[in-house]
Amino acid sequence: MKILSVNAGSSSLKFQAYEMPEEKVLISGVFERIGIDNSFYTIKINGEKIKKEAILKNHEDAVKILTEELINYKVVNDLKEIEGVGHRVVHGGDKYKDSVIIDEEVLKTVEELSDLAPLHNPANLIGIRAFMKEIPEAKQIGCFDTAFHQTMDEERFLYAVPNEWYTKYGVRKYGFHGMSHKYVSNRVMEILDEKFCNIIVCHLGNGGSISAVRDGKCVDTTMGFTPNAGIVMGSRSGDIDYSIIPYIMKKTGKTIEEIDSILNKQSGMLGISEISSDFRDIEAKISEKDKKAIMAHYLFVNSVVSYIAKYYVELGGVDAIAFTAGVGENSPHVRNMVIKRLACLGIKLDKEKNEEMRFGKEGVITKDVSSVPCYVIPTNEELMIAEDTYRLITK
Ligand code: AMP
Repeated sequence: MKILSVNAGSSSLKFQAYEMPEEKVLISGVFERIGIDNSFYTIKINGEKIKKEAILKNHEDAVKILTEELINYKVVNDLKEIEGVGHRVVHGGDKYKDSVIIDEEVLKTVEELSDLAPLHNPANLIGIRAFMKEIPEAKQIGCFDTAFHQTMDEERFLYAVPNEWYTKYGVRKYGFHGMSHKYVSNRVMEILDEKFCNIIVCHLGNGGSISAVRDGKCVDTTMGFTPNAGIVMGSRSGDIDYSIIPYIMKKTGKTIEEIDSILNKQSGMLGISEISSDFRDIEAKISEKDKKAIMAHYLFVNSVVSYIAKYYVELGGVDAIAFTAGVGENSPHVRNMVIKRLACLGIKLDKEKNEEMRFGKEGVITKDVSSVPCYVIPTNEELMIAEDTYRLITK
């Protein structure tokens, strides 16, 4: 069965086609600068990467070209062969605890939840509607970033604010990056060959979140009502004292929208380093002994270590810690700094293995004598979406 896995952003659309249940990737690619000038797309097939320019006025243009290319490259002879399209949807609120087949009611709910994810849900919806139009025979599946975290207890997802904020306005911790936390924790369980175990998953990318997972279910996670909570990120502040907001508004005369944008787009590693939100740029400056770059790294590592320590206690000890996403998969430097700080728990890094484990490699990075093994697990949200889509279609 052929299945498409789709991640639609406001100006981009990533896709991957799978043969399921074999999990074979048939073609993948990304459409960029949709609705902007100089739009283009890249396709990866049979180990080759092809870049093409195209006029992409909207997502429908992108989906139309995608369907033509699927036929051109003989991924399918007829679009009817695509039985399911799985869509990454950022916010499912507390309504969706699992992926779902999309119908009118789901579309309406996702639209209503746009209040909680104004940058993401509308873009996800545009993507879904474009595929419903272009491949109407296929079942459309919604795979929510929030769903994996729906197993959190009330005592973990509630904030200590007036109850009415939760009951009336939905103010609670939701958690994000769920498809990644689910994939990585499942993969660690496979490696450990254990269904009943405690795992801490560190998704360290441009956005970052950590989750505490017991027996495959999320117990707690660092992102909250929005993705701006938790650890220090590329350009997001992570946790701060909220009183800073009215204070800076008074001092600078900035509006709440401006402050919100600064906390999302100009804070985190970028704010502290004043170099970039990209860890590679910052690491390059660290080798030149740039003080702000070094400080940004310390703040980042501190926030990661403090959540690992919190979840270690919350879970009552752990069987494994996993690192994933851009930084977690590719920066031995960051992993080294984090794991060194976990020495008091008996966790011992294997420096050679740590250096080796990057650019898509999966494996252990701690010594055999380490009290807890740490792994690098390249995340695969697309596969998780394809698996959920296949499961729901064949149910
Ligand atoms: P993601 O959001 O998962 O795509 O991750 C993006 C982040 O990963 C960016 O900050 C990149 O700088 C970082 N990253 C990617 N490759 C490397 C690398 N080789 N070393 C350090 N950071 C990296």
